[in-house]
Amino acid sequence: MKKQTIGIALAVAAAFTAVDASAQQKFLTIGTGGVTGVYYAAGGAICRLVNKDRAKHGIRCSVESTGGSVFNVNTIKAGELEFGVSQSDVQFNAVKGLNQFKSGAHSDLRAVMSLHPEPFTVVARKEANIKTFADFKGKKFNVGNPGSGTLASMQELLGEMGWKMTDFALASELKPDEHGPALCDGKIDGFFYAVGHPSANIQDPTTSCGARLVSLTGPAIDKLVKGKPYYAPATIPAGLYPNNPQATQTYGVLATLVTSSRVPADQVYTVVKAVFDNFDEFKKLHPALANLKAEDMVKNGLSAPLHEGAARYYKEKGWIK
Ligand code: GLU
Repeated sequence: MKKQTIGIALAVAAAFTAVDASAQQKFLTIGTGGVTGVYYAAGGAICRLVNKDRAKHGIRCSVESTGGSVFNVNTIKAGELEFGVSQSDVQFNAVKGLNQFKSGAHSDLRAVMSLHPEPFTVVARKEANIKTFADFKGKKFNVGNPGSGTLASMQELLGEMGWKMTDFALASELKPDEHGPALCDGKIDGFFYAVGHPSANIQDPTTSCGARLVSLTGPAIDKLVKGKPYYAPATIPAGLYPNNPQATQTYGVLATLVTSSRVPADQVYTVVKAVFDNFDEFKKLHPALANLKAEDMVKNGLSAPLHEGAARYYKEKGWIK
């Protein structure tokens, strides 16, 4: 009898231990973009630093390749992703219920930090004889895949210019890993891509078929930059990509990391701490992250309220009040 009681007690104890361990193992997923984009690399860098201390905090961080910013914000809203990378313009519009988010503002969206700049990048096929963006009228142009921030920003630019998708002979919606091959094969004459630099998806077509970067300037762009808080002028440095010795004038946004108010503060704190406690290592994980400055990342490009877990760490550091 005694033996049996002990046996039951042990079984109960074992069951409790099992429940306890699974409660401690928490899974966080960061929605990114295409696997060859910079979001995927930036998300991977964040997870790598989080996972380094997994034994201490019990969080397992993983990245998911997605359609991009708009998909990430919508999927966080649905509670199916804990974190996502999002362009600062998409974050702004989601919080205010504008453009793609007209059906409802995302009141649970929370800012965590900003990441690298994303200059809007227009690339033309060498033989397409394109001098300015306006030369794409009547040509085959890739505007970005559904769910991407690229497509959202393209739509805002076309709206300001008074253009419609039908002003292109073809407005294709290929993904970033498809636009380079399509350009070099002559299936499209150019593409628009909101991305950090250097980016493999720009490197490929400039290397393999001499594709040219095209500047984005003019009255419509001046008006957008002046009127929208999330846009700023940007320059893609001379010689960054093969066959493009010139500097390219354009405008753009910042990539940001966002989450939901429903994600517990301790988890967001852990993610933020992993990045900033290992900041030198973080900046080395992708060249687009190399020039980041902590003081800028805690305020620039953030229009959603800061998540309380992030704010706790930034206050400890004295970066915010
Ligand atoms: N900015 C792009 C988007 O939101 C993604 C860029 C990337 O994957 O690096 O669609």
